[in-house]
Amino acid sequence: MTERHLDTVAITAGRDDSGALAPTLWPSTVWESGGLDDTRDRAGSLRPDAFYARYANPTVNQFENAIAELEGAESALAFGSGMGALAAVVFAFCGQGSHIVAQHTLYGGTLAFLEGPCRRMGIDTTFVDASVPGSLASAVIPGKTMLVIVETPSNPRLALADLAEVAAISGPFTVVDSTMATPFGQQPLSLGIDLVMHSATKGIGGHNDALLGVVAGEKDLIDALWQYAVLHGASASPYDALNALRGIRTLPVRIRHQNESALALARELEQQSKVTWVGHPFLPSHPQHSLAKEQMTLGGSIVSFEVTGGIDAARNVLSALSLVRKATSFGGPESLICHPMTSTHIGLAPDVHAAMGVTDGLLRVSVGLEETSDIISDIVAALSKA
Ligand SMILES: *Cc1c(COP(=O)(O)O)cnc(C)c1O
Repeated sequence: MTERHLDTVAITAGRDDSGALAPTLWPSTVWESGGLDDTRDRAGSLRPDAFYARYANPTVNQFENAIAELEGAESALAFGSGMGALAAVVFAFCGQGSHIVAQHTLYGGTLAFLEGPCRRMGIDTTFVDASVPGSLASAVIPGKTMLVIVETPSNPRLALADLAEVAAISGPFTVVDSTMATPFGQQPLSLGIDLVMHSATKGIGGHNDALLGVVAGEKDLIDALWQYAVLHGASASPYDALNALRGIRTLPVRIRHQNESALALARELEQQSKVTWVGHPFLPSHPQHSLAKEQMTLGGSIVSFEVTGGIDAARNVLSALSLVRKATSFGGPESLICHPMTSTHIGLAPDVHAAMGVTDGLLRVSVGLEETSDIISDIVAALSKA
């Protein structure tokens, strides 16, 4: 078969052979077996079908197959959330005394997980500034570092990690949280990364109605991950997998439109007198703009910016908005705005906030699917109240 464009794969991937155009929902948690020998075979095998839903579920499998195809992976495994996916990757491949290298700008939950439960269990993380060439590789401790974890583009200031440079690190498994890019923004596995993960709750699901995570990579790695994940228990719900499969069908169209609106908003914000900084990977002013153009096909739907006047100005902007909603997620149809310091990155130490650039005046916009100029006018009008 000729290789098809990724936009077409979004439509063809993750189908069963029933002929039904909408995915079949399999709510069953358990299947009857053909007898003792049949049960023994299923209970003792990897990812057995028609057995028990924590081990595998046909609707969830269709979602996993679709993601594997979109990421160019041999295999994928879904989880009940992005954090479920991340926690399972860490506990599947690390134990007491293991070391992780991670970039210091990360999703707040990921950071809190590595700083809290992981340290308590004797898994130590060294955080580095991944935008400095060589910083990840030089933090690796041979024989001890099990994982190198990067998020690119990253929360909340959209700094990038050089995927080719990360892939060249030998020894530990390399893990990329590609949530902000989606499979249409970048293809980490094609650059040699070992595991790519997403919070499919965001752009992939795309409608704010599925809490879901997914990890894709080589079959051997995903099978090893499954052997831990089946005990970890953060299994994906078939209802959420169904919603995310529907999300995948329109993902390329949505993400491309959102990327264009985000870039238009970013350009407009750069002209605003009360805005001191604007971040989007495809803005020419982004310090890693040429890297972004090299490794990404789309810059994503998120724009971060900083207003003068600190937290009071940020509060005033939020209060003055009439279209853009105050909520912390991203990747859905509605444009959303959040103040990372008091939401996604709350509770982190002041020096961690400072290192990450989470300042009092920082705002993060998830650009939705409303008409571009309506989004821009709403934010520009709100800025006059800053
Ligand atoms: C939301 C998010 C997560 C966590 O995903 P959940 O589905 O909320 O558990 C992890 N990484 C990134 C980049 C995210 O945006």
